[in-house]
Amino acid sequence: MTFRASVLTLYPEMFPGALGLSLAGRALERGDWSLEAVQIREFASDRHRTVDDTPAGGGAGMVMRADILAKAIDHVSPPGDQRPRLLMSPRGRPLAQERVRELAAGAGALIVCGRFEGVDQRVIEARGLEEVSIGDYILSGGEPAALVLLDAVVRLLPGVMGNEASGSEESFEGGLLEHPHYTRPQEWERRAIPEVLVSGNHGKIAEWRRAEAEKLTRERRPDLLAATQPVRK
Ligand code: SAH
Repeated sequence: MTFRASVLTLYPEMFPGALGLSLAGRALERGDWSLEAVQIREFASDRHRTVDDTPAGGGAGMVMRADILAKAIDHVSPPGDQRPRLLMSPRGRPLAQERVRELAAGAGALIVCGRFEGVDQRVIEARGLEEVSIGDYILSGGEPAALVLLDAVVRLLPGVMGNEASGSEESFEGGLLEHPHYTRPQEWERRAIPEVLVSGNHGKIAEWRRAEAEKLTRERRPDLLAATQPVRK
């Protein structure tokens, strides 16, 4: 089963963008996943291909119209399409690895990229759009957010990552941030690689990595520890 991504956007030229290169790009070429970027303007009905209008109630900016967006959604994701329908939105649930893993296990995703002030609330409700945020800051459009989401998902698809093991040992996978990394040279600017890592003692190495991961997580992201295990002293 190929993961199918359909992106609704006013800037289809932004895709595949960075996802056309490296791991994701090679996987795209191999057909491990597919991507269609659909121009929302194609579903506009007037000569100027207008997709937005002024906000009801007044105020600055423009709002994407429900009727036009719904036409685009219905065209790309007709009834019966099993894929979740996502709307990139700063008001959404913050994207985390757990949701990324769920998405990667599914048939694909329809991703709506907002622009201007956002989209008419009625289309969010009527088409059951799941709002997804990539962090507490405002982008100028949903496209970079969609690229971020797809990057995170695609690298988890079967066969995409060269070394499968490196996926399961990363930050967040065990509810912890990852331990620090080192590589040659053994000494650099009078800094040595921690002794234990060159000891060849794999039990000790695993223990050290676990302890470092816990220490980092406690210092930087105590919220992650609280979510996965009882708080330690
Ligand atoms: N007026 C809105 C922001 C609109 S930004 C508000 O204050 O909530 C324009 C578009 O960029 C949004 O519709 C959304 O699709 C995208 N976007 C901006 N920030 C985002 C974020 N942190 N995560 C996901 N999408 C984002």
